[in-house]
Amino acid sequence: MFKRILIANRGEIALRVIRAAKCLGIETVCVYSTADAGAPWLEYADRSICIGPGPSAQSYLRIERIIAAAEVSGADAIHPGYGFLSENAHFAEVCRDSQIAFIGPSPEAMGLLGDKVSCKKMARKAGTPVFPGTEDAIEEVDAAVKVANEIGYPVIVKATAGGGGRGMRIARNDDELRAGIASARQEAAAAFGNGAVYIEKFLEHARHFEVQTIGDSHGNAVHLFERDCSSQRRHQKLIEEAPAPAVDPEKRLRVCESAAALIRSAKYCGAATVEFLMDAKQNFYMLEVNTRVQVEHPVTEMITGVDIVREQILVASGARLSMQQSDIVARGHAIECRINAEDPDRGFMPQAGLIESFAAPGGLGVRLDSHARAGYRIPSNYDSMIGKLIVHGPDRATAIARLKVALAEFKIAPMKTTISLHRRLLEHPEFVDATFDIHYVERFLKKDAK
Ligand code: ADP
Repeated sequence: MFKRILIANRGEIALRVIRAAKCLGIETVCVYSTADAGAPWLEYADRSICIGPGPSAQSYLRIERIIAAAEVSGADAIHPGYGFLSENAHFAEVCRDSQIAFIGPSPEAMGLLGDKVSCKKMARKAGTPVFPGTEDAIEEVDAAVKVANEIGYPVIVKATAGGGGRGMRIARNDDELRAGIASARQEAAAAFGNGAVYIEKFLEHARHFEVQTIGDSHGNAVHLFERDCSSQRRHQKLIEEAPAPAVDPEKRLRVCESAAALIRSAKYCGAATVEFLMDAKQNFYMLEVNTRVQVEHPVTEMITGVDIVREQILVASGARLSMQQSDIVARGHAIECRINAEDPDRGFMPQAGLIESFAAPGGLGVRLDSHARAGYRIPSNYDSMIGKLIVHGPDRATAIARLKVALAEFKIAPMKTTISLHRRLLEHPEFVDATFDIHYVERFLKKDAK
């Protein structure tokens, strides 16, 4: 087992990893930028090392400084968290070359699943449902137009190296497709240094359904059921829940098993999320695989009782998964709200600055994963998420009721947060009845602004 883990991240996920490591009796080292000097989570680490100024390009993304910090502190493993370097295959490779365990998949598995075209090929082989579309990256535009006419418009042009919603264009006819391929290629080349694009069927109304999986280095892989993350704004998830409400139990299980089969076929060691869109007829289409722990992993932990970060650490050290598929049972319903320091009434403007008061909610089934507290100054350099409020209950209605109480108790001042928005979304008929799709939040905000 590892002796000391370096955490190449910040905020709530740094704290989450510290907690899991401590439960395993492992020491922790945090790296931090000057903008995070004195931040609360650093108090809980055994050691903290400053690696540069506030902008992440000069600190949390600087591979050589992170490796140097690991070497200086004698860390034998690095947990990358999410974001930053977590899906950077080069970083995973540098860790390996430096004989430091990367708590995540091998650079090879990351590369295979991170490239959308190669991932889709593997998925097809493993029996994971995928969107109809081009098999490979587009070479000839005319050939792509032909495929689009076969599958029918609308289609979406996507970058094979895509991420963060960039390099995507929706096309509703041949002309839009030709223009979309050209502009997506340009955008992808600028953003990812790789201009390859492909097309697939575009779903107008869909729900976001994702399967949590985890594999070990002995060829075992399991799924921990699914999450619904349809409450989104600009592709950023706001509310996530598990299980996905109102989905046919057999279809749900089949998709979850197909996700585990994909991870197994990739000889994948670590936690991965296989993301799908689900249409109104409950057909599933894979979007992509995220090769890291996700922000919303706690809802899965709440229904399964599995500590996902602990499992990540264990399998990275070479241990076998501590459970088999038949051991994993989902109980009750869990919902997570992302608490962002943003003003939902003013275009989600980020709210940096000093938190003067912070009253956390509590009670049965209430979990708060947050690095924030009164006296904490939110820096303006990073994303605005200051915590996650997660509730668990025996069923969805009870979880919603508990969440409403918890959100009402939760008071952060003086800045605006997404708490007020969550309270309104929980009353939204489409949320209450689970008849929502991934655009309902934006429809709601548009109507609200009028
Ligand atoms: P990225 O890696 O850039 O996040 P994804 O493939 O995950 O890209 O897609 C981002 C979002 O774009 C999805 O969550 C979904 O809202 C939308 N999207 C992507 N592909 C499709 C599709 N085929 N049909 C409908 N919406 C899509």
